[in-house]
Amino acid sequence: MTKTIYADVVIAGSGAGASAVGGELAAAGLNVVVLEAGPQRFSPLGTHVRNVYSSEADLSVVGDVIYGEMLTYPSGEAEPVSQIRDLRVSHATGGMFALWMGNCPRPDRGELPAWMDAADWEPYFARASSLMHIDLNGGGQGAMFETLLDRVKRTIGARPQGRDVKPMPVAARRVDGRLKICASDDLFFRDAPVPDTITVMPDCIVQEVLSDGHRATGLRAVDRTNRSEIIEVHADMVVIAGGTVGSPKILAASAIEAGPALGRYIHEHACIGSRVTLKEEIRHLIRDDEPVYSIWVPFCEGKPWQNQLCRFTLSSDGGRLAPGIREVDTSDIFTFVAIDVVPENRFVFDPVRKDPFGLPHVTARYAFTRADRVRIGQALAEHFVIASDVGEMEPGWTPSLYAAGGSTHFMGSCRMGPENDGTSVVDRYGKVWGYDNLFVADNSVIETSNAGNPTFMMVSQALRTADRILGRV
Ligand SMILES: Cc1cc2nc3c(=O)[nH]c(=O)nc-3n(C[C@H](O)[C@H](O)[C@H](O)COP(=O)(O)OP(=O)(O)OC[C@H]3O[C@@H](n4cnc5c(N)ncnc54)[C@H](O)[C@@H]3O)c2cc1C
Repeated sequence: MTKTIYADVVIAGSGAGASAVGGELAAAGLNVVVLEAGPQRFSPLGTHVRNVYSSEADLSVVGDVIYGEMLTYPSGEAEPVSQIRDLRVSHATGGMFALWMGNCPRPDRGELPAWMDAADWEPYFARASSLMHIDLNGGGQGAMFETLLDRVKRTIGARPQGRDVKPMPVAARRVDGRLKICASDDLFFRDAPVPDTITVMPDCIVQEVLSDGHRATGLRAVDRTNRSEIIEVHADMVVIAGGTVGSPKILAASAIEAGPALGRYIHEHACIGSRVTLKEEIRHLIRDDEPVYSIWVPFCEGKPWQNQLCRFTLSSDGGRLAPGIREVDTSDIFTFVAIDVVPENRFVFDPVRKDPFGLPHVTARYAFTRADRVRIGQALAEHFVIASDVGEMEPGWTPSLYAAGGSTHFMGSCRMGPENDGTSVVDRYGKVWGYDNLFVADNSVIETSNAGNPTFMMVSQALRTADRILGRV
């Protein structure tokens, strides 16, 4: 049976990109229908898992829910994407945006597309900061935090202007005394009652973009719980926001000519992680109920990586703690290293074999370049100096390089570019080349090698897409 719906705009996916575009369009009065492949896990729709399990005591539960229940291989496949062993996503309302940690580093000039004027990003960064409730001092406060921050500043030394060591900007605010991490509910509904201009439909797997030549006419989806039920939404504007794996799959499954860049140029940050017991002079300042914190050493020219010192809410060192050392006496250190963006790193879509969503089964070719490996080595050297300046480097300190995909920041499969020359899928507004009304708005459009957590930049870009749809640019 086919159910037919009419809307001004139809969006595939309900995560960060979808809610940024959808919320802006609905606020402007357009009638928006959102088709999400996964179920509605929490209420209100799209809310963050940390807002459901909100006490400090719940932290380990949050980790179990995220890693044990919510992150899956793309389309719920039983096996990982070949060569990208840790590439996982969340198929539920809110996508990975319901699981993220809220870190929102502002991109360096070198992390933005070289072919775009940096000033073009400023109004979008300002709007995203406001809509996401970004707190520039959200990284932490208190005696221990200030001492640790000062120690890291001394370790890192002089930095280019604006790229000094500082608290990590965090997209969170206090609501009724509780920390609320920004998620899809904030961007879709904006603290107002759910507007009647927006309809989010869970359990609708988008399988195809409907089109007639150079225009998309809507989306066709199948009901996840009853595969004989088909939903067709016909709309003037179509936005694909299924994430870096989901969006190119939908385009590859459709009669859409997206060009040779589709699925290519995939990238993330090589991720190095370690944990140290903080030195005694820092440790003695720690309270039993020391709040979580996050210190940011930004990407900058000459050092294309980002360090972060934090008490990561999801990891526990349990058995590995030295006698007398508590969890709060330790700090996680993460280093995200930018990697080369090359066409050889790519998804390959199988035209015959289908995944559990009925979309093309995907494999990948993915490897570091030699330059990547040299850069990772340089970043590891800095990681070691930070670790040994703030922590006790007793035997057993073990940094690790995460498996591919482990950053949770996969990008690039529908990259944007300045012209339709076969190296990009969408233009600066996220509009698919050759189509008047078909857009992509998620991490898949990010085209420049970068080391900063990408969601803030991507939400900013999605607001630019909304402006284009609204005819504001
Ligand atoms: C544990 C964790 C911590 C993180 N911390 C941070 C952080 O601190 N800072 C940061 O910047 N980023 C962080 N991230 C990454 C952040 O969550 C992503 O950058 C962001 O959510 C990506 O947005 P998106 O729109 O591309 O994809 P998503 O938010 O994942 O949304 C994609 C949606 O599309 C849906 N979909 C896919 N295919 C289909 C289909 N065929 N039909 C219908 N719907 C479909 C999916 O089910 C999903 O809901 C973290 C991620 C995780 C998992």
